[in-house]
Amino acid sequence: MVSTTNDSLEGALTTQSTHRPLLGMTQAELTDWVQTQGQPTYRGKQLHQWIYGKGARSLADITVFPKTWRQTMEQVSVGRSEIHHRSIAPDQTVKFLLRLDDGHIIEAVGIPTEKRLTVCVSSQVGCPMACDFCATGKGGFIRNLATHEIVDQVLTVQEDFAQRVSNIVFMGMGEPLINAHNVVQAVKCLNQDIGIGQRSITISTVGIPGQIRRLAQHNLQVTLAVSLHASNQPLRTQLIPSAQQYPLKDLLDECREYVAITGRRVTFEYVLLAGLNDCEDHAVELSQLLRGFQSHVNLIPYNPIDEVDYQRPSRQRVNQFTDSLKAAGVAVTVRYSRGLEKDAACGQLRASKVGD
Ligand code: SAH
Repeated sequence: MVSTTNDSLEGALTTQSTHRPLLGMTQAELTDWVQTQGQPTYRGKQLHQWIYGKGARSLADITVFPKTWRQTMEQVSVGRSEIHHRSIAPDQTVKFLLRLDDGHIIEAVGIPTEKRLTVCVSSQVGCPMACDFCATGKGGFIRNLATHEIVDQVLTVQEDFAQRVSNIVFMGMGEPLINAHNVVQAVKCLNQDIGIGQRSITISTVGIPGQIRRLAQHNLQVTLAVSLHASNQPLRTQLIPSAQQYPLKDLLDECREYVAITGRRVTFEYVLLAGLNDCEDHAVELSQLLRGFQSHVNLIPYNPIDEVDYQRPSRQRVNQFTDSLKAAGVAVTVRYSRGLEKDAACGQLRASKVGD
């Protein structure tokens, strides 16, 4: 696992490969850093503006800095990834393949609507959870993303669209709560340094024992989305191998704690797989499971992937399932994923390396 967030500032600036990238640092940290470089404190604020506001990719780009200093600092890594590929779907969803410093490729998706620009960010290269219906898991797990590699995805989309990002969903590649430290750092940076409201940030997790409780203790105002996908334990284990070590009851207990601590309701995601978890009995069971729970159910009709032959239910079945939940008093919405044509929809993102 890779974490750059504990690197000390001191002594971290000797070579490009070992120092902590500037992206992800707060204004106070950047100010400390410029001081260690013999520069006046106000350069910290300038550096902050140029990195987060003007998209500087190198200190050489920062024209307000003295030329000689800029030149000596050229090797300092800001921490931006390169755009390896960009593709646009007919619905204007844009998928970016970003090349990390070590050559791995991750995906980020920009999803525009009339009023919003949402970024679907990745938290890992690949994913270890191996959910049976998800393309990312089929490719295995490579490593956690560092904080700057998460923040970079948002800046890339913002710059490409030339529009402020309004919402962020941690629904790209990876399981965010296995990389909780860097994800929480990224959330704080996106909030404080880029100005995205915490309430406009959603962390989606399949559930890792103890981690939802731990996230609650950070007292962030982010939305927690939990990938439930089944109304009972045996069915959930069939679809999500990790559920074996995490009984549904324990998962829901932790979600209740999240609601109690943060005062925020939880979203439950439920991918609809024809004939498997979309029957009337499942709707009834699901509404019983969630009775009295301060929550919202988000139904995601399955997006096809090559490796397995699950089917997406008909619209009629999706509507019936939705109506049953509504009739039982469950708050529910259906999410037809965007970007389907470019494999940019939920569960269709996968890891690759340049040259694959
Ligand atoms: N690891 C996180 C984020 C995964 S992606 C999590 O498990 O929540 C976001 C959502 O897309 C999850 O609910 C995930 O289960 C769902 N998903 C995965 N594959 C899918 C597919 N093929 N069709 C529809 N949704 C899918």
